[in-house]
Amino acid sequence: MEKKYTPVIGLEVHVELKTKSKMFCQCDANYFGAKPNTHVCPVCMGMPGALPVPNKTAIEWMQRVGKALNCTITANSKFDRKHYSYPDLPKGYQISQYDEPFAVKGKVTVKNPYVKGEAKSFRITRVHMEEDTAKLSHEGSNTLVDFNRSSVPLVEIVTEPDFSSAEDVKMFLEELQVIIRYLGVSDADMEKGSMRLEPNISVMKTGLGTLPPYKVEVKNINSFRFVKEAIEYEVKRQIVLLEKGETPKQETRGYDDVKRITYSQRSKEDAQDYRYFPDPDIPPFAFDEKYRRDIENSLPELPPAKMERFEKELKVKEVDAFILTRDLGTADYFEKACKALKAEKIEPQSVANIIINKRLLTSLKLEDFVSKAKGLLAAKKTDTALLEKNIAEVIKQNPQVVADVKGGKQSAIMFLVGQVMKMMKGQADAKTVIQTLKEKL
Ligand code: ADP
Ligand code: MG
Ligand code: ZN
Repeated sequence: MEKKYTPVIGLEVHVELKTKSKMFCQCDANYFGAKPNTHVCPVCMGMPGALPVPNKTAIEWMQRVGKALNCTITANSKFDRKHYSYPDLPKGYQISQYDEPFAVKGKVTVKNPYVKGEAKSFRITRVHMEEDTAKLSHEGSNTLVDFNRSSVPLVEIVTEPDFSSAEDVKMFLEELQVIIRYLGVSDADMEKGSMRLEPNISVMKTGLGTLPPYKVEVKNINSFRFVKEAIEYEVKRQIVLLEKGETPKQETRGYDDVKRITYSQRSKEDAQDYRYFPDPDIPPFAFDEKYRRDIENSLPELPPAKMERFEKELKVKEVDAFILTRDLGTADYFEKACKALKAEKIEPQSVANIIINKRLLTSLKLEDFVSKAKGLLAAKKTDTALLEKNIAEVIKQNPQVVADVKGGKQSAIMFLVGQVMKMMKGQADAKTVIQTLKEKL
């Protein structure tokens, strides 16, 4: 089955920004755990006549996301009204962006040593700004509406259909999450709903080259755990239809994480006509070159660049450089610890080992970390019993070299040191090894 068909997947990812206030009003945007309908005002409740005022910080943060995904920040942009009728949308339209998004045409390259093969690139079609909707919940036959989430800044990232497996999607999404957290603009937490994935999925005959004439959008994937599962289920479902000579219907499907299946929500027949038009309450934007350059310059060193620097400059193993750069706090801490331990002649790779393998916490105060690290590294020198056993073994196995050393060829001792180090798997201090060897000889 895998050979005959290739999945074609494009993503729509929503990310909620953690700005102080909402997108178009002064309400507190941090609604998590708040009593329903306590973070509301006439604007985000959609009262007639209430006027939206765009949140400048949210727009800047969105543009930083765009730039971090290697997009072009557009010089001219505007907000549009996207109409649909649903109880989570008090105005009857969502303020979004249609044909002039804030950022377009980007690319994300992911190099993940845990995934086989080379680095992979995925094209970003556009990144735009919109407002979140209210949250619905159901109590018996009643639907309850909580407007706390209504109008919280929401960034939408749309990719080209460049993914051909669920693994690729998961790898991209993890990278995206790391990048967004580096920027400090969102928690990007799928379980909390601050990052949401809607994959568009179709399947083509392998090698065909043209996109299938349909796509299925899958909604309600509310946890990282289900990303792969939902996509793989949907791909299999479509292949079964294709094998029967049918073309899967273009539709929106939901993911049921209890039954672990996708189910039809709405089909093409009732596809929405959103009647987009420019929001007359919000004047269009023009961003000059300096503004756009400042956005670019405000970006931190991003994970791929940091990972490469850790490998090339600090000589850290690829997989460790990857692990250490998954989180900006850990990466910064690691660098500070390296600086502090350099005076003790402790290499960055040893510091990496201590953090990753010995799980020495990067939440420790730096001075405590440094003294504990020194202790840990000193501890390995004291395994003298093993050292003496290995030295005896090496002496026994290399009589000629031993004779050379005894005959005055001092340089030959380094060969023996090397052999001992190999047997110690590097878990020994070179000075101690040399000293003990000399004693034994
Ligand atoms: P719509 O206007 O229906 O939202 P778009 O063309 O904007 O459709 O695409 C939405 C998403 O669907 C994008 O992520 C895009 O990459 C993806 N997509 C487009 N065509 C296909 C296809 N044949 N199979 C899978 N995904 C697709
Ligand atoms: Mg769509
Ligand atoms: Zn409000």
